Amino acid sequence: MTNIRAQIARGDHKGKPLFPHKHADGKYVATTSRFEEDYVRVDSVDELKALIESGFGARMSNPDTGNAPSFIVNKKIQMEEVEHARPTAEILKSASHEVDLDGDSRSKYRKEQSLLRAYLLGGKDSGRCTICHHDFPFDMLVAAHLKKRSECSASEKKDIANIAALMCKTGCDDLYEQGYLSVRDGEVVKTKKEVTSAKVIEVLSQVTGNRVANWEGSSAYYQWHYSKFNK
Ligand SMILES: [Zn+2]
Repeated sequence: MTNIRAQIARGDHKGKPLFPHKHADGKYVATTSRFEEDYVRVDSVDELKALIESGFGARMSNPDTGNAPSFIVNKKIQMEEVEHARPTAEILKSASHEVDLDGDSRSKYRKEQSLLRAYLLGGKDSGRCTICHHDFPFDMLVAAHLKKRSECSASEKKDIANIAALMCKTGCDDLYEQGYLSVRDGEVVKTKKEVTSAKVIEVLSQVTGNRVANWEGSSAYYQWHYSKFNK
């Protein structure tokens, strides 16, 4: 178990504690803003903890005040482990197993993506892009599926340690997704896809030759991708 707390910053109830708010649908909400489109709805405090560790804020409230829940930014949230904390990896693995995307809603997609990214970040709120090797804050990274998710078998989808990798939103994720680059023998390479944009050529030249840190576990997924874009 983990105690998640914050404090009311102003008004009549200043200084009183805030707790994760359980919404009418029974879910807790991790979010990076007060806007509903950014909400990630999770089923347990354990899942919420994992997302706060990876940089999210949360919707929090104090039932005694009668106030509506409010968005608390990540830096204002305190977390304290109290006996028998489940390891984050275990929480995320079981949470990820519950979600099946096929024909499923956008909010479930966001939850799976956020939990997978939190898992790959290993309890930190920043991480390294697998392709360009630069460091980024969590919200500039995605958990990129190395093999297209819709083509993965059920067991491949559950291979969460290897099926996805952190890639940055400054270009690597899209360059991989669109097949401008791939990975062969552990090394970032250009594909056969024709490139006429000088900017894309420049970006590709900066990352080709980089070695990917997860080649050993993920080689089969990278090989699927390489074949797809080098026909
Ligand atoms: Zn990158």
